[in-house]
Amino acid sequence: MSRKRCAACDELFTPCRNVPDQAFCSKPACQGERRRRWQRDKRKQDPDYRANQAAAQKRWRERNPRYWRSYRQAHPEYSAQNREQQRERNRRRGLSDTAPSPAAIAKMNEYPGKKAVESGTYRLIPVPGPGIAKMDEYLVKMQVLSDGYASPAAIAKR
Ligand SMILES: [Zn+2]
Repeated sequence: MSRKRCAACDELFTPCRNVPDQAFCSKPACQGERRRRWQRDKRKQDPDYRANQAAAQKRWRERNPRYWRSYRQAHPEYSAQNREQQRERNRRRGLSDTAPSPAAIAKMNEYPGKKAVESGTYRLIPVPGPGIAKMDEYLVKMQVLSDGYASPAAIAKR
């Protein structure tokens, strides 16, 4: 069988007999590169795949909240970029920013002894908007972990 040039390391290699179209040699780094490129193309072309990947990542973040928190702290630009993208998505959907305004937060602070939200079971009802299909409502159990609020300035910085 004729030799080919690897698409990653550019070295000559002999393709496996049963993989005539093999474009990458068998070195682990080149096989890793092959998978990365495959995923990148798949994400670009397949909305379902993209959604599944995003959902899997979200599940992972929810299972590893501590890792995720320290990641965000170590990469503040990541959070900033995410916030910006969310604002952009909201804008396209015609939703206003869901974060409370500094004025709203200041109002909550008028009653320092009173929690705005108590731990308990809540009915979570998605608000449908343009481009968002009607969703089922959920019963969620919420536990308030912190008492008191950060100052509006600190929240704006988050
Ligand atoms: Zn290679």
